[in-house]
Order: sequence, then structure tokens, then C-alpha cells
Amino acid sequence: MSSTSHPEIRDAVRALCQDFPGVYWRGLDRERAYPTDFVKTLTDAGFLGVLIPEVYGGSGLGISEAAAILGEIHRSGGNGGACHAQMYMMGTVLRHGTDEQKQEILPKIAKGELRLQAFGVTEPTSGTDTSRIRTRAVRDGDDYIINGQKVWTSRAEHSDLMLVLARTSPRDEGKKPHDGISVFIIDMQEAKSKGLTIKPLRAMINHATTEVFFDDLRVPARNLVGEEGKGFRYLLDGLNAERILISAEAIGDARWFIERASAYANEREVFDRPIGSNQGIQFPIARAFAATEAADLMVDKAIGLFDAGEPCGPEANMAKLLAADASWQAADMCLQTHGGFGFAEEYDVERKFRETRLYQVAPISTNLILSYIAEHVLGLPRSF
Ligand SMILES: Cc1cc2nc3c(=O)[nH]c(=O)nc-3n(C[C@H](O)[C@H](O)[C@H](O)COP(=O)(O)OP(=O)(O)OC[C@H]3O[C@@H](n4cnc5c(N)ncnc54)[C@H](O)[C@@H]3O)c2cc1C
Repeated sequence: MSSTSHPEIRDAVRALCQDFPGVYWRGLDRERAYPTDFVKTLTDAGFLGVLIPEVYGGSGLGISEAAAILGEIHRSGGNGGACHAQMYMMGTVLRHGTDEQKQEILPKIAKGELRLQAFGVTEPTSGTDTSRIRTRAVRDGDDYIINGQKVWTSRAEHSDLMLVLARTSPRDEGKKPHDGISVFIIDMQEAKSKGLTIKPLRAMINHATTEVFFDDLRVPARNLVGEEGKGFRYLLDGLNAERILISAEAIGDARWFIERASAYANEREVFDRPIGSNQGIQFPIARAFAATEAADLMVDKAIGLFDAGEPCGPEANMAKLLAADASWQAADMCLQTHGGFGFAEEYDVERKFRETRLYQVAPISTNLILSYIAEHVLGLPRSF
């Protein structure tokens, strides 16, 4: 593992990314446009199907290889956020779906014929407290009728299928607050004329994110994933993979910032010498490097446990926490090293700075990880 693991995959991804340099991402960022060409190239090369078992036409590789792919995209200055969910979201169907759902969906994802990369969890009123989602699915004959609203549903305009979390029974009727939540597969193309509305949400970064509204949307009951009412557990099953892959992206960002800062500190001359000869510039770069290497060790540990089929909740969460902190530290350092030019679009630093800030908030905020470590790993009293 580590950043030197899977050199052949990393070399191939790096070569692919050379065709999508900073100017490509900058242009998209300005227009808030989707990186269609990049995603197509990645799909055609088979990189988005690595986690799909071979029996369904994928490569059947582990989270270690997937992390290498996403890490290298970020290290090269790009962003995997446009398509990373295409890699791991199918895991919910793979683990909990019916044979029919798996046969129908997974081979098409592996071939790049079907996009399953939108997941509607977050709602405007419930925030991080998923037990309080208000989107409801009510059984009506062979269908469910869904009403409600999601926010920050990324890639919804660039996905054929969407997984949606909806309440199928009230919060106070279950033994636990999260009982009574179910997962549904929505065929988005079909649903658009039947009660599904998607509104783009312009944000600080180019993330193709949206608001999604369900207005009496009829979904066939066969689109329920697993058992009714157990959807939150299915969501939890996929979280470790997501946290590990996001950590790999953050480590990739951190390395990009460190490499850019080191290069600039060597070449930029002020007071007749490179700014990098000042320890005030050197030390923050060295500190960011040390933080990144340390965080990467935790990412490695989480990957090792995950791919061995061992429990890895604490490690996956700590990896996400440390990698997000390392990338943000490196981003701040890189911007400072570049002085005024750090603010100029053409250096890509300000874009990557905005992009890497996301990891402090999504897919899970730093506070919620700290709370998990404090209460579930260290046994401290519950705060909420
Ligand atoms: C660009 C982007 C893309 C996203 N993509 C998706 C997506 O595809 N699908 C999806 O479902 N969601 C998506 N999200 C939503 C994201 O997962 C949430 O924003 C995130 O989980 C935080 O939830 P919230 O925004 O509701 O914050 P809130 O829950 O309202 O929290 C606000 C702040 O309060 C803190 N806080 C809340 N409760 C506590 C507590 N008990 N103790 C200490 N601190 C607390 C939080 O840490 C946070 O800093 C995306 C968000 C963004 C910005």
C-alpha cells in the first residue's frame, strides 16, 4: 500500500491525467461544467469498475487499487468528485440487492453503459441527523409513492440511477431512531416525467451538486434494496469504503500542494534568492509533508483491514480525519508559499484550495468523526 503501492495503476492514471491538465479543470470550474470527457476516458479505461466483482464484468479488485486511482487523479491536479461515487455506490446493491437487481445493474455499470453515482441522503431540515429525514415512501400495491426533498445530491444530472433514503415507517415506531428507513433505486430518466425534479445548486466548488424534489413519485416495489426499514444499516455498511477513498483523494491533494509549493519555493526569487531558502517558507512545507506521510499511514492501515475483511470503523474514520486535516494544512501552506499568485486562477492553487476544504464538511464533518472516536472508540459519555 501507501503512495508507492500499485505503481502500474498509478502510472496509467497519471498518464491518462496528463491529457486533462490544469487548464481543463480551470475552464470547467469557471463554467461549473461537468468533466464529461475526463469521466468518459476514465470509464473507457475500466477504472470506475475496479470494485465490481469479475462475475459481473468488473475487475474484482480491492479498495487499495481504487484508492490508488483516486489518489493519483488528485495528485495530478484533477478531481475525482465527479465520478468517485460510480466506483463505490454500487456496493449497496452488490451487498444487499436481489440477484435480479445485481444482474440488471452491475454488468452495465462495469461496461460504462449505466451511471449509478447519485445518492440522496442529506435533507435541508435534518442535516447530519439522518434519523430525522422527512422523505417518505408509502407502499401502494406494487409501487411505493415517494414524497420529499434532498439537498446536496451530487451528480444527479449525470446519473441514470439514484439511490434514495426514505422513511417507510415513522421514527418513533422503531426500536431505534434509525429503524424504518429504506433504500430505493430510482430510474432517473423515467422518473423525470413522473414527479422527480432536479435543480442545480451553485456552490463554492465545481461538484455538480443539486437539490432533488420528489412529488408523488411512483417507484416499483422491486426497486427496494434489501429489506424495508433496514436502509440505514445498509448505508453504514458502505461508509468505511467511502471514508477510505475520500482519504486517498485528500492525500492526493496534499501531495499536489506540497509538490507545487516545493517547486515554487525553489524557483521564485525575492531579495536575490529563492524564497525556499527562508526557513519561514521551508518549515511549513516540511510540516505539511510530515502530516501527510503520517495520515497516509493511517489510510494504509484502514485499507489493509478493509481488504482483509476485518472491522475498520475507527481506522477509516481516523484516516478521513487525518487526511482531511493534512490536505487542508498543505492547502493553506501552498497558498501562503505562492503569495499573491496563490490567488491567481492560472496557478490552480486557489481552485484546489477551495476543493480540498470540502473534506472538513463532507461526506462527513470533522466534528462528527471526533464524536464517533470519543464515544464509540473511547467510551466517553454520549453528547447527543
Ligand atoms: C459539495 C457537497 C457535496 C455533497 N454531496 C452529497 C451527496 O451526494 N449526497 C448527500 O446525501 N449529501 C451530500 N452532501 C451533504 C454532506 O454530506 C453534508 O453537508 C454533511 O454531512 C454535513 O451535513 P449538514 O450540511 O446538514 O450540516 P449540519 O448537520 O447542519 O451541521 C452543521 C455543522 O454543525 C456541526 N454539528 C452538527 N451536529 C453536531 C454535534 N452533535 N456535535 C458537534 N458538531 C455538530 C457539523 O459538524 C457541521 O460543522 C454534500 C455536501 C457538499 C457541501
